[in-house]
Amino acid sequence: MTFSAFRRLLRPLAAVLLPADCLVCGAYLPAEHEGGVCLPCWRSFRRQEGPCCRRCGDPVLAFEHRAPPPSYLCEECRLRARGFQRCRSAGLFEGPLREAIHKVKFEGEAVLGRCLGRWLARSLSGEAAESDLVAPVPLHPRRMRERGFNQSELLSEAVAAAAGRLHAPRLLRKTTPTRSQTGLGREGRRRNLRGTFSPGPGTPLKGKSVLLVDDIYTTGCTVEEGARVLRRAGARAVRVVTLARTVR
Ligand SMILES: [Zn+2]
Ligand SMILES: [Zn+2]
Repeated sequence: MTFSAFRRLLRPLAAVLLPADCLVCGAYLPAEHEGGVCLPCWRSFRRQEGPCCRRCGDPVLAFEHRAPPPSYLCEECRLRARGFQRCRSAGLFEGPLREAIHKVKFEGEAVLGRCLGRWLARSLSGEAAESDLVAPVPLHPRRMRERGFNQSELLSEAVAAAAGRLHAPRLLRKTTPTRSQTGLGREGRRRNLRGTFSPGPGTPLKGKSVLLVDDIYTTGCTVEEGARVLRRAGARAVRVVTLARTVR
């Protein structure tokens, strides 16, 4: 048993015996909190706001004095089709939100993952409206066994529930583990991901519109590849939402 699994096991006991601390800042946790995170920490999550690319949602930094037209496309989206129709992120991957995501991914805080899912659902409530199905970016089965859950599935479940849409957690499968993406440029990442997803069995995709959910958007290569596989399997359109976006 890993140390974090051992700590998880002891938590119900500790909750009775000891006052709890906020998972992010360590401050004493008042009775009113969500997912083990204090209210000031939730309030400090920075949302992604301001002008962005119509397709991928990348913030537009060049337009500091003048808002770009709503039709604005970033260079990447002008150059080629992205597989997805539109992508938006709820927050920026920095500070307390980054801490919270790490707690979910590396310390097994699944309850916090569900709370972050509800935060994502509230932040981007309009995105699920036009989709028939909501699906997570999958984890490879080996990684899934190590972690015990797929953090993106905790998010997609909350998004589907909030929007009253069908949750399809097995719509995509991760058939080959991705080798480390560290140090790879966009083109290298794309090549590295090619052929690592396949459509899952069972759910008919023909003509359906899908909302694909992931935790972090970095270059968009992962959701692009996932969207491409869904489109090839018959999906009419794929939109994407992510909890956070890396700050460049
Ligand atoms: Zn806190
Ligand atoms: Zn773009």
